[in-house]
Amino acid sequence: MKVLKFGGTSVGSAERIRHVASLVAPRGRNIIVLSAMSGTTNTLVEIADYLYKRNVNAAKETINILESKYLQTIAKLYDRHESREKALKEIKGYFNYLRSFARLPQFTSVEEKMILAQGEMMSVAMMTILLNERGINAEALPALEYMKTGENAEPDMNHIQANLQALLDRYMDADIYITQGYICRNYAGEVDNLQRGGSDYTASLIGAAIEAEEVEIWTDIDGMHNNDPRFVEGTRPVGELHYEEAAELAYFGAKILHPTCVLPAKVNNIPVRLLNTMEPEAKGTLIYNNIAEPSIKAVAAKDNVTAIKIKSSRMLLAYGFLTRVFETFEKFKTPIDMVATSEVGVSLTIDSERFLPEITDELKKFGTVTVDRDMVIIAVVGNMEWTNAGYEARAIEALSEIPVRMISYGGSNFNISFLIRKEDKVKALNLLSQKLFNTPEA
Ligand code: ADP
Ligand code: ASP
Ligand code: MG
Repeated sequence: MKVLKFGGTSVGSAERIRHVASLVAPRGRNIIVLSAMSGTTNTLVEIADYLYKRNVNAAKETINILESKYLQTIAKLYDRHESREKALKEIKGYFNYLRSFARLPQFTSVEEKMILAQGEMMSVAMMTILLNERGINAEALPALEYMKTGENAEPDMNHIQANLQALLDRYMDADIYITQGYICRNYAGEVDNLQRGGSDYTASLIGAAIEAEEVEIWTDIDGMHNNDPRFVEGTRPVGELHYEEAAELAYFGAKILHPTCVLPAKVNNIPVRLLNTMEPEAKGTLIYNNIAEPSIKAVAAKDNVTAIKIKSSRMLLAYGFLTRVFETFEKFKTPIDMVATSEVGVSLTIDSERFLPEITDELKKFGTVTVDRDMVIIAVVGNMEWTNAGYEARAIEALSEIPVRMISYGGSNFNISFLIRKEDKVKALNLLSQKLFNTPEA
């Protein structure tokens, strides 16, 4: 059995949903994971935001606009009157449910997450009816009955496995299963989610739970490209990646894959294939335990990075300095991405400014602190085992025109990271494509 996940654009219109139904039907008894139609989750965030601010009218208006989009979709989605009526009834039910939040005396993060879950619920409802209309015995597997996170917000694999298996056993005769990406229950049993873009994570957690033959992430591009196609022209798909390479790229900004998606697949040795819904014949990218020839495979960029430099107030040979620096970040639960050290100081980067004032206050006790905001990490990723000479030199050479604040290399064999200014990002990505992948100059 395989897990096939379709993202927001892949189910973004009636035409696209019909296309996905035609893609999945002949592929057999698999589990199909669906995202909300593109734009829906953003609109649900907006609705919740109005309700937080007690602007009930704006929330209701936004709900009405979203509803009309869904009603228009349904009008074009089905061939049979009965299917259309059934879908209308279900979708109107979801919208009435959304409206019910506008009547509540209070609005908290619990209600917000219930609202955010409705996009994926509607995708599954519409797709199940469509497949049924086409004579396929499609069963919806409600994610809220099996997808769960534990006390530390990590997935509760035992619960997921047991409850998902129970559902699969209950619907033994099904031709195909459809389920919601992104949504789950948390430790307290409340409706929650796996963070924005988290449907990819749903797919790999299901893959791990059922020991799937393969996890397929179907999206709007033909695989992982060697650079960010939003900023660089002439990027090309990378045929194969090692799990580690895919994880580095996803973590450092390659939006096609959610960073959390790689680990469950890697641990269970399940291949992950990135495929294009609009071009199903394209080869895409295969992610597995691929030990390839040394090479630089791709480049990605992570935005909104803050660099912090701490110069020790004691001079040479001070031990315990780094411990105290790192403990500060642990205390404020803030992960560190890059680190560069010298005898007198250390520079590191974080991607969350939530506790920045507290962190800098604490760090000032043992050194001089400098903060640089609006920085970008450029990650050059590939199989670059250090005994192979020249990879870091090529990456540095490509960036010779760009001021580089930090370099990090040697933490893994798969990544060389550069910290640069936000305004230099697009130029840096383009230079790397020209110098490393021979893309013509723009
Ligand atoms: P989905 O809605 O299917 O989850 P996403 O928008 O999350 O799709 O991810 C696909 C998008 O990722 C592409 O349209 C592309 O613009 C962007 N992207 C960023 N970096 C890369 C990359 N290196 N390779 C491919 N796509 C990338
Ligand atoms: N619908 C959710 C989002 O937009 C989850 C996903 O698409 O992966 O973030
Ligand atoms: Mg995505």
